[in-house]
Amino acid sequence: MAYQVLARKYRPQRFADVAGQEHVTRTLLNALAQGRIAHGYIFSGHRGIGKTTIARILAQALNCRTAVGTTERPTQEPCGVCDSCTEIRAGNAVDVLEIDAATNRGIDEIRELREAARYSPARDKYKIWILDEAHQITDAAFNALLKTLEEPPEHVVFMMATTQPEDIPQTIRSRCQHFSFHAVKFDDILTQLRTIAAQEEIDAEDAALALLAEAGDGSMRDALSIMDQAIASAPLVDGKPHLEAQQIRELMGSVPNTVFERLLEAVSAGQTSTVIEETNTLLNAGNSPAALARQFVRYLRNALMAKVGGENTDILQISADERARAARSAMLFGEEDLTRFLQVMLRTFDDLNYRQEQRFHLELGLVKLVHLQRLLPVEELLSGVQSSGGGRASAEPGAPSSGQRSAAQVPVAGHVRATAPARPSPLEADRNRKIRGEAQTETGSATIPAPRALSPVEVVGRATAEAKPPIAVGLAEAEASATEGSLALAPDAAPDPERIREAVCAALTREGHETAAAALQQAEWSVQSNAIRVVVPMRKPMLALTVNAEAEKICSKAARGAGAAQRFVFEPSETGAAGASARPAAMAPGGSVQAAAMENPLVRKAQELFQAEIRSVLDLRESK
Ligand SMILES: [Zn+2]
Repeated sequence: MAYQVLARKYRPQRFADVAGQEHVTRTLLNALAQGRIAHGYIFSGHRGIGKTTIARILAQALNCRTAVGTTERPTQEPCGVCDSCTEIRAGNAVDVLEIDAATNRGIDEIRELREAARYSPARDKYKIWILDEAHQITDAAFNALLKTLEEPPEHVVFMMATTQPEDIPQTIRSRCQHFSFHAVKFDDILTQLRTIAAQEEIDAEDAALALLAEAGDGSMRDALSIMDQAIASAPLVDGKPHLEAQQIRELMGSVPNTVFERLLEAVSAGQTSTVIEETNTLLNAGNSPAALARQFVRYLRNALMAKVGGENTDILQISADERARAARSAMLFGEEDLTRFLQVMLRTFDDLNYRQEQRFHLELGLVKLVHLQRLLPVEELLSGVQSSGGGRASAEPGAPSSGQRSAAQVPVAGHVRATAPARPSPLEADRNRKIRGEAQTETGSATIPAPRALSPVEVVGRATAEAKPPIAVGLAEAEASATEGSLALAPDAAPDPERIREAVCAALTREGHETAAAALQQAEWSVQSNAIRVVVPMRKPMLALTVNAEAEKICSKAARGAGAAQRFVFEPSETGAAGASARPAAMAPGGSVQAAAMENPLVRKAQELFQAEIRSVLDLRESK
């Protein structure tokens, strides 16, 4: 006997054998038991999940000859051996016609069908049409069909199988019973593959079958087609084809998911070089960039689903090992990060399809992931800005503040401290934790404390909060203690930090770095023997944006001019942004939050740089 592909050889012959469509078979079995047969059925769903198979079984059930003599009703269990059953299975029954609507979609074919429908079946009880890919039928042809469905002869049954039921006109749909098929579950496919492997005497690793089931992606037929190929290319061990995971991966051009797990670990650790080396190894081994991107997209999607729904979510139709892996990767990142990663990789995958230098695009996409973690959502950017941008007066060119800090800043900030509790968003907490971790790694010393907020503003809070209710912190008081606070922090430093601060801020302003100047003006400065330590009240990513390499150079130069030769250490302050985000007084001048945001130097700078337009400003104080 000629070789028959697995999907055909193991096509279910009974309703009970159809995997994963119990909701359909149950209803059909009930209808058969009660003899309630509709004239039109629509079976919709993905390819290869059993639509035509069920249509054929239903046709057999309606026309089985063995059942004819026993009862008037159609049978639930077609015999499978009578003329009618065998002919339907072979696809040559006179009264059951399968039409591929993709090729026979025109008005003529349907008119023919309509003509034929008027006559009684040649031998069996029903005249049945199975229209595959029914959505391809033209509108005119559907109209012709509608006439028959409106007043169907007693013996006529139409079964339409389609992947796009929405393309079937409503007039037709409303005259049919519509069954929506589910994607076949991973476990159901795997079970079927195991059964088939046993029957075919194939020696298959379970991991190999799991890969095949995954590749099927909800389609039994797809999984079986790949299994056919795998068997054909499998080595024979003791006369039996031997299926291994590695061989299946080669066949599908995929790599083990451990690769992506490692990549994400490197991304999480910010190791761009590792990411690039891994990618290089993969590409040099002959993997195509597009295939890698595609697989990575799937992996990220699984990780995101594991993050959102937990490791055991039904959405993940993959093996237990892969679930665990996805969950491990998901633990490294927040939901936001994973979402952005997925977005970037999807775009990368799209790009790869029509770009020349596929390799570069893949590398670019992967490196982007490393940097993405440092980006902040716009809302947060704005709230971070508020912490550094209050000193607009001092940021104005030509107005280098001399000695006295702008009086407006301190009391306002003191007020903040008093009225605004820290904003405890879980996302933020997560990020703070991460930033803190990075900071410690970078300084490489366990004794250096995590950068607590040490800006003068915070000092005020601490100095006064214990003694009085913070709300009572007044304007003058706050100012006074601010001076005390900052002096107390560096009492014996040789060059005066205040002097260096003024020199540096003036230089920055002169050179056009107003934003950096404003931020440093608000920072807490201390001069130590080996470094000038500046704790800036903003988060690390913001700090890196604000005080960039060029600004740092200006700082060093200005400090040398002021008699300090030490190097600069800029440190973010953990609660800087959160603590100062709610700042009613600073918001006030224009009245609205929008106005306050627009006036902020950092926002202005961003607008200038990106030629951006501000569409909306979120007030995070209200969104709690
Ligand atoms: Zn039969």
